[in-house]
Amino acid sequence: MSDGANPCTACGACCAAFRVDFHPVELAGGAFAWAGGVPLALTVPVTAQLVRMRGSDASPPRCAALAGTVGECVACTIYDARPSPCREFDPSHDACARARARHGLPPLPV
Ligand code: SF4
Ligand code: SF4
Repeated sequence: MSDGANPCTACGACCAAFRVDFHPVELAGGAFAWAGGVPLALTVPVTAQLVRMRGSDASPPRCAALAGTVGECVACTIYDARPSPCREFDPSHDACARARARHGLPPLPV
């Protein structure tokens, strides 16, 4: 989810479609934490250089920080502290349309 404005707040598909991996320096207390950093309890360790948002590799995937109902009304509960992959996700990219398709949602209008 890239921002707090529509249409993302009525979607959330990308938060329930892809693994969300990032470097541990973005965790709470880390050297590159945003707004206090990602709470450790919302993540799982992958390697010494990688952590993953809990639930994002589940089947079906859903990030543990996502609140609400995909395709209706959602919010990222750690929005200010969300990790870099979430900050960089681009609603104009094909991945947005792929995530939405997984949830039966049409591509965003161009
Ligand atoms: S899939 Fe696209 S429209 Fe939906 S929340 Fe993510 S960036 Fe926004
Ligand atoms: S941290 Fe927030 S923006 Fe990132 S995948 Fe999870 S719910 Fe979505």
